[in-house]
Amino acid sequence: MDIYKKYGHQLPFLFKVLSVNKPLSIQVHPDKSLAGQLFKTRPEHYPDSNHKPEMAIALTPFTGLAYFRPHDEIINFAKRYQQLGDLIGIDLLAEYESANENDRAECLKKCFVKLLKEPQEIIADKIKSLLEMAANDNGDNDLKIFSEIASEYPGDVGSFAYFFLNHVKLEPGQALFIDVNQPHCYLSGDCVEIMACSDNVIRAGLTPKYKDVDLLCETMTYKPKSIDEIILKPTLKDPFTCLYSPSVDEFAIEKIEIDGNQSKTLEYRFEGLHSASLLIIIECGSARINPTVKLKKSNIYFIPPGLNYVVTEIEGKFLAFRAFIRQ
Ligand SMILES: [Zn+2]
Repeated sequence: MDIYKKYGHQLPFLFKVLSVNKPLSIQVHPDKSLAGQLFKTRPEHYPDSNHKPEMAIALTPFTGLAYFRPHDEIINFAKRYQQLGDLIGIDLLAEYESANENDRAECLKKCFVKLLKEPQEIIADKIKSLLEMAANDNGDNDLKIFSEIASEYPGDVGSFAYFFLNHVKLEPGQALFIDVNQPHCYLSGDCVEIMACSDNVIRAGLTPKYKDVDLLCETMTYKPKSIDEIILKPTLKDPFTCLYSPSVDEFAIEKIEIDGNQSKTLEYRFEGLHSASLLIIIECGSARINPTVKLKKSNIYFIPPGLNYVVTEIEGKFLAFRAFIRQ
């Protein structure tokens, strides 16, 4: 009932399958307070007053850039690649390196802002030089990934985000939670994605869409995270069900995975939940629900709150994701 009072007849999340073939723009989603201001003052670019935390659960090997790297990694890249060091500038880099932990966030901000505001011809020149280095050094994996990104958006300053943001690689079933005000850019792979209902995206690169570099630079918190901190660990509810529940009010997801050929159970129970839920079927050899409806791969089902459903006659691989309002 509380959930009904809070959200009415609306589900407060968007739930979808996303297939990423090329980098999807360096972006940040504003928090609720900023979203409210932007919606009032610039609705042509920011059409919602809501925030947009999001989570991606990999269906295939999946890569993306997310959150700032630990400071030392960024500094080491700037020292290793002179092109990046030049863009940041020797003085600023020295200030960043010698700063104590409390001041490093402010230094990181200065470095990132300076990079994003360099004249286009200088950026294009440094990218060209790095691409030439990459072509001559097959063993440098960082340069290889940088070149892959840069080749999709020639001359785009966003390619340099690789050196600032963690390069996250997910295996199927691993998840990435992106909180508000945190930079990210999905690079490749398929995932199930969920987000709070909002269309507010502040972009700064790797996109033909509207860029708002000043706003993006002001919005971010510049708090680095390690990859371990970013990958969201699901909890196992039963042998077939994993729960992904990041600390946001709007959503949580259960992954249901059953090998119908191996399991003797051959029956799975969807417990009635406190909220309505959406079920996306990713794989389904054959299965029935309650017991007359045949579940089909690629179909999406609406499950009303409080109702139990039993899946029976499961054959082959069954993989589904159920999204609901987090309790
Ligand atoms: Zn996003």
